[in-house]
Formats: sequence, structure tokens, C-alpha cells
Amino acid sequence: MTPVIITDIKCYVVRPDRHNLTVVKVFTDKNVYGLGCATFQFRPLAVKTIVEEYMKPLLIGKDANNIEDLWYLMFYNSYWRNGPVLNNAISGIDMALWDIKGKMADMPLYQLLGGRARTAVPAYTHAVADTMDDLYKEIEKIRSKGYRHIRCQLGFYGGNPDDLRTPKQPIPGAYFDQDDYIRNTLRMFQDLRAKYGDAFHILHDIHERLTPIQAINFAKEVEQYHPYFIEDIMPLDCNEWLAQLRSQCATPIAAGELFNNPKEWLPLVQNRYIDYIRCHVSQLGGITPAIKLAHLCDAFGVRIAWHTPSDITPVGLAVNTHLNIHFHNAAIQENIELKENTKSLFPGYNEAENGFFYPIERPGIGVDFLEEATAKYPCTYRAHEWTQSRIPDGTLVTP
Ligand code: MG
Repeated sequence: MTPVIITDIKCYVVRPDRHNLTVVKVFTDKNVYGLGCATFQFRPLAVKTIVEEYMKPLLIGKDANNIEDLWYLMFYNSYWRNGPVLNNAISGIDMALWDIKGKMADMPLYQLLGGRARTAVPAYTHAVADTMDDLYKEIEKIRSKGYRHIRCQLGFYGGNPDDLRTPKQPIPGAYFDQDDYIRNTLRMFQDLRAKYGDAFHILHDIHERLTPIQAINFAKEVEQYHPYFIEDIMPLDCNEWLAQLRSQCATPIAAGELFNNPKEWLPLVQNRYIDYIRCHVSQLGGITPAIKLAHLCDAFGVRIAWHTPSDITPVGLAVNTHLNIHFHNAAIQENIELKENTKSLFPGYNEAENGFFYPIERPGIGVDFLEEATAKYPCTYRAHEWTQSRIPDGTLVTP
């Protein structure tokens, strides 16, 4: 095998629309380059520093063919490991190396992995509104585009409080009330099923907003409305409570977007506490660990629903599509429709069509990046309010 030598690595942080997106570009001596997604919306410059100051000198002169070896080199080289900043930096390079391999082989990524397992993967998107009437309007818009799976949220994560009685001089924050949220969300499910019957699948994301025993009660109550899945029902640090939840109801459970390493997902998969794994591919460290996770899940009957939010590049979105087309246990692909500025930066972006993502047939990942246009969309950062969530007495809780 002729070596493909890495000659340069660049990292770009751009904010074309709502989010800072991080793209890594790996150059080789064969006039072929690769692109990867390293987007960590809340700490983008930390990721860029790792790529440019530490990964670049480590990898220049190495053979891009040896992805497995280079992944472990990047992972072990810092000695301390398993964090989201390091994993996203590794992901940017790992995806770029797979992109290079696909281009050299003249094969789309899903073919490089072994070919397709399905014609197309179903997509779901988000309907969010503060009132039921507005939620119905959102749902109608989404259904008119062909979606048959919709994540429905009444209010932001944690819902809209009915009557927020905080102590005087409350600490600033994004307040919600857990009891109001449970009551209003169950009523939302009831109203949606009354209005639409089984016309589409309903998904919902709790976003860790409940205590463990509230989560178990919610799972039991919502079971009658047969959701497609309930996501992050348990606070991440309380996932052992899923054993009790599973013993009491058959509500489908999805979790995993916050995970960084196998020690976090292994107990959930091997104990069959979840039905869907929701890991975020760049947060794991890219395609290389995602392949291993997907196979592990397949052995335990756990299906894949990769986290695909709006803070992901079209390169990362396309990677998820390739993985979903290839893996037999892939179930569904989350989708937030791309905005125009983002589309203009990433020629070859892929989109859902009539509620499905279809195979991408271009070599490699199949999405390009116009780095000459990045100056138009500089990185800007602010501390996000929603990550400062509080319950009425002022206690800060996981966002
Ligand atoms: Mg989520």
C-alpha cells in the first residue's frame, strides 16, 4: 500500500448561522484532502487549540492510511483522556482520515464500511411551541414535508412553568418547575393522540430534567401513549435507576448524547437499559469509535439514533447518514434543517427528502467546505443562558 503522507492540518471555527461550527481539514502529499467535524458548540476555541497546537505536530509526516493506529496515537498521546474537548479534536481528524480513504478508494463512506443495510433511513425533526395551538401548526408544517416521526416539546426543555413561585431575589437563570413539566407534557401526549391518533410517531426529550423517581413515574404514565422513544429520561449520573424503570414499564428509552467513553455506555447496553443509543459521533472521537459502539449495540439488540442537533457541521450530518445507511441496527436519523449560510459554506450537504435520508454516493464523506468564505462568519461566543437552568428554589440543575 502506497503511503499517503499527512502534510498539513487546519482547523476552522465559523458561525454561519446560529452556532459555532468547527471543521478540520487534513492535507496529504497525494493531492487529496479530508474534512471532519469537531464541533463542540460550547468550547470551540479549546478544540481548535488542540488540533493546531498538539495534533498537527504529532501527525505531520504520518501515513494517513493507518487510521486505527493514528486514532489511538491521538487518544493516548495526551496521557489524560476521555474528555469532550480532546474527543472532538480527535474526531475532526479521524473523520478527515476516513474521508481521505474513501476518496482514494473512490467509494462513498458507507460502501467503504461494507455497503448498505437499507434503502434509506427515516428522519425525525423537532416541533417546539409554547402552546398546543402553535404546536399543532408546527406539526402540520413538518408533516407536510413528509416526516412520519416528530419530536414534540411543549415549551423549552423543562417546559413552561404554570406558576413559578421563586423565593425573593432569585438567582438569575433559566427557571422551570418539574411538577408543571410532568403534568403539561403528559397532557400534551394525551392531546396529540386524541387529535392525530397514530398518524405519526411521537418522540420526546426530557433532557435530564427530572429526579430519578419522577422519571420512573413519568415513564409509567407516558407508556399508554406509546412514544417512539423518550430521551435522556434519567439524569446522566443516575443511570443505575434505569434498572427500576425497566422493571416497571416498557416505554422505549433513548440515551447517550453526553457520553464520552465506553465505560459510560457499556452498562446501559449490556444490561439492556436502553432501546436506542443516542451518542454524538464527534463527542466519541469520530467514526472509528462509532463503528465499535454500533457493533457492540447490535450484539445486545440496541438500535442507533445518533445525536444530530443543529450544532453539527454538514460534514458530521453526512457521516451520520453514511453510518445509518450501513449499520443494520440503525433506526432513525435526527434532523434540523440546514440554514442558508451554512449550506453556502458546505457544497454537497445532504438533506432529508420526504422524511428519509438517502445514501450519499460521492467518494468519501461527500461534503466539501469553502474555507475561503470563512472570514464572513467569524466565531462569536456568549455564555448560554439555557445551560444555567434552575428549579424554583434556585438550585442549579443539569441543562
Ligand atoms: Mg437530546
